[in-house]
Amino acid sequence: MKKILNYIGGALVEPQNGIFFENIDPSRGIAYSLIPDSNQNDVDAAVNAAKMAFPSWSSTPAAARSAIMVRIADLIAKNAEALARAESIDNGKPLSLARVMDIPRAEDNIRFFGTAILHWSSEAHIMENSGINYTNRKPIGVVGCISPWNLPLYLFTWKIAPAIAAGNCVVAKPSEITPMSAFLFSELCIEAGLPAGVLNIVHGYGPSAGEAIITHAGVKAISFTGGTATGARIAAKAAPEFKKLSLELGGKNPNVIFADCDFEKMLRQTLRSSFTNQGQICLCGSRIIIERPIYEKFKEAFVEKVQNMKIGDPLDDETKTGAVVSEAHMNKILSYIELAKQEGGKILCGGERCYPGGELNNGYYIKPTVIEGLGPECRTNREEIFGPVVTIQVFDTEEEALQLANATEYGLAASLWTSDLNRAHRFASKIESGIVWVNTWLMRDLRTPFGGVKNSGVGREGGWEALRFFTEAQNVCIDFTP
Ligand code: NDP
Repeated sequence: MKKILNYIGGALVEPQNGIFFENIDPSRGIAYSLIPDSNQNDVDAAVNAAKMAFPSWSSTPAAARSAIMVRIADLIAKNAEALARAESIDNGKPLSLARVMDIPRAEDNIRFFGTAILHWSSEAHIMENSGINYTNRKPIGVVGCISPWNLPLYLFTWKIAPAIAAGNCVVAKPSEITPMSAFLFSELCIEAGLPAGVLNIVHGYGPSAGEAIITHAGVKAISFTGGTATGARIAAKAAPEFKKLSLELGGKNPNVIFADCDFEKMLRQTLRSSFTNQGQICLCGSRIIIERPIYEKFKEAFVEKVQNMKIGDPLDDETKTGAVVSEAHMNKILSYIELAKQEGGKILCGGERCYPGGELNNGYYIKPTVIEGLGPECRTNREEIFGPVVTIQVFDTEEEALQLANATEYGLAASLWTSDLNRAHRFASKIESGIVWVNTWLMRDLRTPFGGVKNSGVGREGGWEALRFFTEAQNVCIDFTP
């Protein structure tokens, strides 16, 4: 079986303990490669390599850093099909989705920050007739980047790119559930001539390899995307050492639909926002909240479309709905469907595991599920399920819609469907979430601030926000009075 290797000090190496564990293809439920079971020793080696690379990388001119990053982006484009296949096999997502979303976005991330750094400037604050302050933005040093399994290379590069563009050296860990694209990426970094130690990738389990990065004294900042419980643990570990933290965590996003919306567009996009990547995107709208006059019409049209969604082999070009990421995650989703029934929810469609036939019967598939009849107090409507499961709720007034939208501990993203411009602005400003889409979903501009409020995270990624996170601001004040 193919062995995934760590990328440390510019070389691809086995874990020091020589231990590997199996990587499972969730579409078939079979092991197909081996993952290093890295621990503290590998993280120590990675941090040392990063420390050694830092003086040179941080003083490399931005134009030279940029040129290397652009070469990496070009190599992602050149190897897009192989990367998309790797992502699909590792994650269970349709190859057709990885081709248009995951891999192009990974390329964009590297190119965006690799060129943004050429336009990065710092502020000056003039004190009338007396002095001038300017802000020196310096790279932090060695930083840790930890990412989840749902959009593996997309989120991995979203962190690494601003970190290295700003002159830091990185120790990164992809999710152990989906490590293959990060491994292929390390090969591309070598081919592009990224200097040894600038990026180090350590594979392994979160509690061992991940936590070793978080707690390492040499790691000065941590950018983490993952679940809220893991984020809380990381924050507790990092706080005593005053490490800089960016936490992008879970969501339970509302999709609020007013009767005056463009119904057909809303319906198309609501299918996307509910079930893209089998509902395993932190931005998916899992609570659909509909104004009463169109509730029945929506329900009928939506359920019909959901029932027609065909689950199939992720590697088949025609497949739009693939497997969920693992057996454990499938069981978690199914347990939430059981909970929804116990809470009095009515399953309008789906609600069970799916066996697509042949060797896929050993894979982890769940029928897209729509649940009705649960209020905002139910756990089904409060806790993140992170699968192909949505609930529908009805409202009568704008005030009630807002209460329903805000009735969770999360606050990542919201979608709003209306043709009333005043209402769109009014409602958007009152929704407790870091991102609001009006009459669309997942329309992304990489320059915009990205992140959540409440239990969905701390800090913002994207554009200058990310470059600010990965630099320390130093104010230099000059007195020019005689
Ligand atoms: P987890 O929190 O389980 O894991 C995220 C990453 O952290 C993985 O690489 C994991 O490693 C690692 N990890 C786990 N425990 C520790 C630890 N103690 N110390 C350091 N690292 C650790 O999340 P999932 O991978 O299950 O991802 C799904 C979650 O991510 C959902 O809640 C989703 O909403 C959220 N998410 C948020 C996004 C956002 O932008 N806000 C975007 C995408 C997802 P390993 O898997 O190898 O154990």
